[in-house]
Amino acid sequence: MRLKVGISACLLGDEVRFDGGHKRSPFCEIELAKHVEFVKFCPEVGIGLPVPRPTIRLEYQNEQIRAVIPKTGEDVTESLRGFADKVKPKLKDLSGYVLCAKSPSCGMERVKLYDPKTGSARKEAMGLFAERLHQLEPALPLEEDGRLNDPHLRENFILRVFLYGRWKALPQPMSKAALLKFHTQAKLILMAHNQAEYRAIGREVGEAKSVDEAFCQRYILQVMRALSKPASRRNHTNVLQHIQGYFKQYLDKEQKQELSQLILDYHDGTLPLMAPLTLIRHYLREFPSDYLAEQWYVTPYPEDLKLRYGL
Ligand code: SF4
Repeated sequence: MRLKVGISACLLGDEVRFDGGHKRSPFCEIELAKHVEFVKFCPEVGIGLPVPRPTIRLEYQNEQIRAVIPKTGEDVTESLRGFADKVKPKLKDLSGYVLCAKSPSCGMERVKLYDPKTGSARKEAMGLFAERLHQLEPALPLEEDGRLNDPHLRENFILRVFLYGRWKALPQPMSKAALLKFHTQAKLILMAHNQAEYRAIGREVGEAKSVDEAFCQRYILQVMRALSKPASRRNHTNVLQHIQGYFKQYLDKEQKQELSQLILDYHDGTLPLMAPLTLIRHYLREFPSDYLAEQWYVTPYPEDLKLRYGL
């Protein structure tokens, strides 16, 4: 079954923006669409606004953020937040959400917040639909279209989407065995992102007496937060060296040197992550390891997305 990913409708080419246009994202529409089922929402159209329509802006009034239509004075704050509540049953099925940058409804960060008295604005708010979406589904990976042009942010978002999708596919109610297996398979991904968090989460899982719903929600939130920033070159290097240790008994001196050199070249920035990983995959086929075979780190998402070539 394909993962479901939410998206601002204008990013798929729907002409629903205030000016009747769209903000098509070729990466989402062409590449990502091969692997996920998009579920699109336009909160502004969803609350009954027409296309085209007067612009909405966020204003700071009486210590509150409000969404207003300056041309008419209409306040659409509660409607935009309420739209997220209205579509909540659909949000529960999602494994990620791609938001349209800068929008007072969909923007994930740095949305302009106006001072209605002076007319000046600071880029510091979150769109009101996006904010409510995050409150309702705090572990759901979110990303903006513009940030997806950065190879590191793009890779990190897709990695989180596929990991969260695997979590959502686990049978309910969760058994401790299923949670332990998930944690084991995510181990190297977590190590590559945040070693301290990896250890802390592992301790909590090991000590857990029961894995009730509250525990599971806390667990996945911790995991998704630990993965929220791209993995560093240094941490990837540690993980690659950790994997290299599994082949020690099978490789001759020259093969060991070749793999070590590829890992060091990756560490120094002269080769992409794919270089040592390709050799590791080759050795995995030659010398299968049950432990490594089940690690999602080796193949975290569909290969043809080519996300690791730019890392
Ligand atoms: S940014 Fe959001 S509200 Fe604006 S047109 Fe796109 S989907 Fe609709």
